[in-house]
Amino acid sequence: MPEGYVKVVLKSGKDQSLKRFHPWVFSGAIKKIYGQVSEGDLVEVFSNKDEFLGIGHYQIGSIAIRIVSFVKAEPDYNFWKTKIQKAWDYRKSLGFDKKSDTNVFRLIHAEGDGLPGLIVDFYNGTAVLQMHSVGMHLIREDLVKALQEVLGDKLKAVYDKSEKTLPFKAEIQPKDALLFGTPESNEVLEYGLKFKVDWETGQKTGFFIDQRENRLLVQHYSQNRDVLNMFGYTGGFSVYAMQGGARLVHSVDASAKAIDLTNENVALNFPEDERHEAFTADAFEFLKDIQNKYDIIILDPPAFAKHRSNLPQALQGYKRINTRAFEQIRSGGILFTFSCSQVVSKERFREAVFSAAAIAGRTVRVMHQLTQPADHPVNIYHPEGEYLKGLVLYVE
Ligand code: SAH
Repeated sequence: MPEGYVKVVLKSGKDQSLKRFHPWVFSGAIKKIYGQVSEGDLVEVFSNKDEFLGIGHYQIGSIAIRIVSFVKAEPDYNFWKTKIQKAWDYRKSLGFDKKSDTNVFRLIHAEGDGLPGLIVDFYNGTAVLQMHSVGMHLIREDLVKALQEVLGDKLKAVYDKSEKTLPFKAEIQPKDALLFGTPESNEVLEYGLKFKVDWETGQKTGFFIDQRENRLLVQHYSQNRDVLNMFGYTGGFSVYAMQGGARLVHSVDASAKAIDLTNENVALNFPEDERHEAFTADAFEFLKDIQNKYDIIILDPPAFAKHRSNLPQALQGYKRINTRAFEQIRSGGILFTFSCSQVVSKERFREAVFSAAAIAGRTVRVMHQLTQPADHPVNIYHPEGEYLKGLVLYVE
């Protein structure tokens, strides 16, 4: 065992989830920490019976330790590089190294790739890092070097966008910054469609890559239909609906900047196409009166619940907004409805949507049940990783 790792012992019975390879240790599970530990340090975790359980990054907060290995290991440069290599090999097996029509994908999906606290999105040569743990922040130079070695020529630049996602109380001063190279272009291709990505000031890493396959499904059903894309952000769903031959597409977002981005992306693909119009408006206000105007409605709101404590309000929010959509969508219409709140389970989301349909008194069939795409894999021992839930519903 390498010297220097602080030992953390868990309370009796609190070792069960780690023995099932769940990578989080909650602060309440810790019995004793032997030694001085700073945020971001690697610590070794043991059961109350002194069995080794794993090694992980320590942090002050409800999730106190994020396990990076369940077997004895020394997390040095090669350790991280191997994990990044495996993440890339997996994306290669999905074909992302060869696609000519898509150059945007998630390269590292935190726990889903055995790298808790780290998100890396790949935008046509630029890797955008979003770190959620101090441990990842402290090893960022190793991560950048490993990305360069693993991706080779494919990688032109690395941008760190973690200022807002790292714990703000930690004694670090993260700044969003370019860590390597120069981005060649901020225009990406997804299924042959073009999008401008603003990773510096945009939400998350700049683009919601996780909706790629669901956008394609919207395209599939859009022919000759009138489409409302609610919570549109960069207008992803709108561009696909237009590609699919929609008769009319309306995009709505509360943010004027999002609406500018939407207009820009629509114009990139369909210059001077009068089928599209964008509105800066609050969703709940806009949905008050859309009586019978749309055949397809897409509801992709921000996470209504960020913590377990506001789960009831979040479920109310989903119910309210879906009720409005069910009440007004045209007969024979299709509702695409999503939740990206990690704390809202698939079952609770379904219940909220189904009770909305009942309140509206519509006859509804489930056409598709959607989730995140394969480049956002779920670690089977960490079910929380399955965060995106969607239902496609045919409304009679
Ligand atoms: N559908 C998008 C992602 C949506 S993110 C995509 O595929 O890329 C959620 C969006 O909802 C953000 O752009 C945010 O500005 C917007 N938003 C948040 N609250 C809103 C509200 N009350 N009314 C309308 N838009 C809202």
